[in-house]
Amino acid sequence: MRVLISGAAGFLGSHLSDRFLADGHRVVGLDNFITGHPDNIAHLMGQPRFEFVRHNISTYTYVAGALDGILHFASPASPIDYLEHPIPTLKVGALGTHNALGLALAKHARFFLASTSEVYGDPLMHPQPETYWGNVNPVGPRGVYDEAKRFAEAMTMAYHRYHGLDTRLVRIFNTYGPRMRPRDGRVVSNFIVQALSNEPITIYGDGSQTRSFCYVSDEVEGIYALFLKGDADPTNIGNPTEYTVRQLAEVVLELTGSSAPIEYRPLPVDDPKVRRPDITRARKMLGWEPSVALRDGVARTIEYFRSLGPERLAPRG
Ligand code: UDP
Repeated sequence: MRVLISGAAGFLGSHLSDRFLADGHRVVGLDNFITGHPDNIAHLMGQPRFEFVRHNISTYTYVAGALDGILHFASPASPIDYLEHPIPTLKVGALGTHNALGLALAKHARFFLASTSEVYGDPLMHPQPETYWGNVNPVGPRGVYDEAKRFAEAMTMAYHRYHGLDTRLVRIFNTYGPRMRPRDGRVVSNFIVQALSNEPITIYGDGSQTRSFCYVSDEVEGIYALFLKGDADPTNIGNPTEYTVRQLAEVVLELTGSSAPIEYRPLPVDDPKVRRPDITRARKMLGWEPSVALRDGVARTIEYFRSLGPERLAPRG
């Protein structure tokens, strides 16, 4: 197969590129480096089955040659990133998805949308099955991401129903691992970078809010299986083991051996109080489930951040 991956220089896009290449496929990677980083694909540059195009998918997009799949992973995806880039976030979910769908139709390619657990908002149902419609504030600061992804889902289903396009739709829950951006503001990267730099660990609120953290190799296996074997309905891919943010801080402090203090900060607006995927559908349809325990995944992620050195860990200037 030859597949196009938008956001290929991002955290998930780069691992997904690796996954397709590992099975002998060809990958065309697209990225405009708003939040992606060239280092994430440096090891792929010059490989015969990998092509890279620096391009913003929210503008007109054409790729020469046959394509069997288009995987739309481009988007700022951490709360501070989409607060910093609110309009590009809305555009890549809306215009970028439309461009990618149009290209898929023209190429008779399978289309795969990277959606998010954010479509469930601050959920009133716990854990969240795919049938839950969510509790999202459209006009809050997170609305730019949540509503862009909800629009992207609606657009994908419209192309599926109206044009008969072969589509997939994954709802990705909190994922962590090597190649996260050191200062992208997400909780796992923040805590590890803070612990390694001996800065205070910033817990927002009282730390009793929960998340369910999936190690990147598990997430990518689920996504890959969904691309190959799934159907058009939304599918949650994530780890169903739930932790409080405070528990995560304890794990990070223990595994780094850091004596950084904990500092409590105000909870961001509309921060979901709980989040945990119901993965019954993925288990049955794909025979997939995550296997990396939090402590193992966090240990590997600590190694990655250590390897970057203090310069890349320094605060954004
Ligand atoms: N969080 C925190 N300290 C940080 C960064 C995040 O306590 O330095 C909390 C945040 O308020 C949220 C959870 O950790 O409750 C997960 O945040 P993240 O930004 O990773 O992603 P989200 O799941 O909110 O999209």
